[in-house]
Amino acid sequence: MSLRVIMLGAPGAGKGTQAERLAEREGLPKISTGDILREAVTRGTPLGEAAKEVMESGHLVGDDIMIALVGERLGEADCGRGFVLDGFPRTVPQARALDGMVAGHGPLTVLHVKVPLEVLVRRLSTRMVCHDCGHNMAPELTPADPCDRCGGAFVQRADDNQEVVRERLKVYEEETEPLVEHYRALPTFFTVDGDQPADRVSEDIRQAIARSRAAAAGSVGRS
Ligand code: AMP
Repeated sequence: MSLRVIMLGAPGAGKGTQAERLAEREGLPKISTGDILREAVTRGTPLGEAAKEVMESGHLVGDDIMIALVGERLGEADCGRGFVLDGFPRTVPQARALDGMVAGHGPLTVLHVKVPLEVLVRRLSTRMVCHDCGHNMAPELTPADPCDRCGGAFVQRADDNQEVVRERLKVYEEETEPLVEHYRALPTFFTVDGDQPADRVSEDIRQAIARSRAAAAGSVGRS
């Protein structure tokens, strides 16, 4: 059975980590728009050139660019059985465009990962990620250790400094949080408590996915 998931949550809510675990468990591609943009910046492509300054200021890259980018990616063969989207949609126009892209492919499963504001600020300003693969540094490691995935060095993300973090959280509240209302009425919408150890969050997500599958099967059975 196919599974199309979006992870909704503020920067620092743990969406990336959980999206990666879920995608691995389900054998689906994880599509992180932040990772795609950061790679484009590193490679100096036209997309990267357009996105660099916007990202460094904590603002959002334009809807048209993001919708085209995701539309193209979701059309690739590995998305045939579904996907886990991390960081998209982030605005109401992006959500409407995504609704159109997946229309007729079964319901979207929406996982709203909720974390209190003060926890987000603390997590973001202390977060270290691998310079080479973007993987988050595990709590048992120190910044002097090599990345446990690829051996790269841990660094702070350019947009994880305090001033930009504040801006990103404000942008989240204004532009992205309204998506909770956009999706809340779906029987496949779930709120997950993200202020728990990562393994507990993963377990809650596993249960939400099982309930989502049951809800989707029910609605197929009724129609
Ligand atoms: P993230 O890694 O998801 O926190 O994304 C890092 C930055 O990339 C964001 O602060 C935005 O500047 C940009 N970005 C990522 N996804 C999107 C999106 N769906 N729409 C607009 N900008 C995005």
